[in-house]
Amino acid sequence: MSLTRQQFLRLSASLPVAAAAAGCATSRTPSASRILIQNADVLSMTAPEDEFIKTDVLIENGRIASIGKGLSASGAQTINGSGMILMPGMVDGHRHVWQTLLNGLLPKMSQKYAEYDRRVNMVYALAYEPEDMLVAQQLGGMTCIDSGVTSVVDQMHAANGDAMEQAAARGLVESGVAGVFCYQMRNGPYYTVGDTYTREQALADRNQPPDERHWANAERIRDMYFSGKDRLVHFGIGLTGSVGSQTVDQAAEEFRRARALEVRMLTQHMNQRPGTKPPILRGVADLHEAGLLGPDYLISHGVDMTDQEMGYLRDAGSGLCSTVMGEFPYEKPSVHGRAIEVGLDVSIGVDVSIALTHDYFEHVRAAYWNLFRTERGAALSKTIEPFDVLDIATRMGARAIGFEDEIGTIEVGKRADLVLLRTDRIGFSRLGSLAERIVTSANQSDVDTVLVNGAVKKRNGRILGLDKASLEADASQSRRNVIRRAAEINLL
Ligand SMILES: [Zn+2]
Repeated sequence: MSLTRQQFLRLSASLPVAAAAAGCATSRTPSASRILIQNADVLSMTAPEDEFIKTDVLIENGRIASIGKGLSASGAQTINGSGMILMPGMVDGHRHVWQTLLNGLLPKMSQKYAEYDRRVNMVYALAYEPEDMLVAQQLGGMTCIDSGVTSVVDQMHAANGDAMEQAAARGLVESGVAGVFCYQMRNGPYYTVGDTYTREQALADRNQPPDERHWANAERIRDMYFSGKDRLVHFGIGLTGSVGSQTVDQAAEEFRRARALEVRMLTQHMNQRPGTKPPILRGVADLHEAGLLGPDYLISHGVDMTDQEMGYLRDAGSGLCSTVMGEFPYEKPSVHGRAIEVGLDVSIGVDVSIALTHDYFEHVRAAYWNLFRTERGAALSKTIEPFDVLDIATRMGARAIGFEDEIGTIEVGKRADLVLLRTDRIGFSRLGSLAERIVTSANQSDVDTVLVNGAVKKRNGRILGLDKASLEADASQSRRNVIRRAAEINLL
């Protein structure tokens, strides 16, 4: 993969010299050894009553070392948090980060899902080249950070070429966001720019078990970008959306091979297909019966799941990411309320980053308002407080993706993934608890400072270490190229 001069300069500025010179990435983030955040109103998300007004937080070597009033730390870099709310970095449990480059095309909001899938996943995804993917993932990861999302589960399902998939992993790691890069298993595609192919055949191809090229590149990418300890982005596998097409035995074989790669996470789009009969996989109940569920498993959507199936996931220690706005155009709403009732850890996902706002607070608020789309949810809304809504985005979200020991709350010993919110904007709520004020009125423009692993990634409202003009120029070039190439894919 060749890089433009700007890309090289931009990357080398943000990477340790040795790694940049070797042309490889590292997810280890250099961090100032001691940072003292002073005088902030700390919402630790450990319990609803845990608000610590005008309090200091000391960070040492990327971890939260101390929380208290009037802390002193000689030689520490200080950040004045006066008048601001300090909260844990938020967790997005399901996003297709590669689509960020094309945000604004709005296909999911204006057209049926079949058209979204055809245009975006079956045409635009094939029009990316490695340099487009690199810039898309860098841009997408930084967009997460900009909105206060410090950990993202990226289901990278534009999986159609070794170099491009490798660029996707590299771009996410280099963006500075933490989380999981989930490499999509699939079969094909067997057409490219300049070809004519039928959608029917493309779907038939996709419903086959994954091909060997994908397995081989998964292993390569794991070794290239995700080996070694102390990493911020982990490696996962996006399993094929095999419900309604593959047999349970085929699904079991895919689970087995993915787990043999010793990945941190298996994730999967999961919606039932009506009328599906054994031995074809019907959903979570079949996975449960086959003994395939486990703490490494995270499903997205799952709007058709029964309470019993949610119980299977809960008992296996698996997680759920219910996308909120992503479900708005469809018949069935997101399932945060039901999951909470059942006791299944659930997170929020932006999902279709080509179509939806990246202001994560909008998705958090939507998770609450979405409850009113069902009678059961409306009844449940009476017992759900703003703290519980924010919990889905922080503490419970971290549990849902299996990172509760590291992130999700502000506690001594946890990783310093933190967000400092300004509250001086006209219209920012002045009344209520800190959680109530955030859930009611916070938005992306209030995000003043973001730390990931104790490294300051955003300060005074601006992403640090970024040559924005260069990134924008590369992104603009890539958009033009992708759209031009997409026009040369004739999918009938
Ligand atoms: Zn998705």
